[in-house]
Amino acid sequence: MRRTFVAGNWKMNGSKAENQSRLEALVAALGQRQDIDMAVFPSMPYVAQCQQILGGSTVAWGAQNVSEHTGGAFTGETSSQMLRDFECRYVLVGHSERRELFAESNQQVAEKFKAAVDSELVPVLCVGETLEQREAGETQRIISEQIEAVLSLVGSDVFANGVVAYEPVWAIGTGKTASPEQAQEVHSAIRAQLAEANIAMAEAMQILYGGSVKPENAAAIFAQQDVDGALVGGASLKAEDFIAICDAA
Ligand code: 13P
Repeated sequence: MRRTFVAGNWKMNGSKAENQSRLEALVAALGQRQDIDMAVFPSMPYVAQCQQILGGSTVAWGAQNVSEHTGGAFTGETSSQMLRDFECRYVLVGHSERRELFAESNQQVAEKFKAAVDSELVPVLCVGETLEQREAGETQRIISEQIEAVLSLVGSDVFANGVVAYEPVWAIGTGKTASPEQAQEVHSAIRAQLAEANIAMAEAMQILYGGSVKPENAAAIFAQQDVDGALVGGASLKAEDFIAICDAA
């Protein structure tokens, strides 16, 4: 049985004061839950604040990005060891906003994934197609290439300690959610691809759906066989919505 994982990607939002009240609400409502995995992903300066407030609760925290390098002259970057220093459990790699707006290639994303694994962080590999790619019938090929880049750099059992998040680019921040059936179709194809590398790993690993997940649609998405949770953007900024999504799990 795979555990459901509900993750909140705060993107470049928040302030110390806003985060504090949101985090305190999460600790009060969710901080003792043992039946699901939960995590939030704040902007880098607030990772320490998450450690301080979430420490001792069952809500984990992570970063939205990590360098593929271990250290040195890389101004503006953050290494995976630095994230470990603040007890991050997870890190997002290859979010579509990083791929699109910051030109991260499949190869660079794979290197970031490797840096995370090498530091014993759990990478959450984000994959997904644009609307043009979906309409051109390229969804499976695009996602398969995004995953293959990681498999070939890091090895076939790479997701034994990793998570995949399927986030169709056309569903992110648009209010348009993939239907539960559309999500299931892609999730099962992802699991089948990973089963070719390692069947036991593919059966055990969590595949999250992301893209306009809200309290109203979460239960139907979670009901799909190969959907093991959600990577929530906008709705994770409201504590009551994030809590309601966790309650739908
Ligand atoms: P929204 O939930 O705002 O569509 O964002 C999804 C996302 O990108 C999470 O990483």
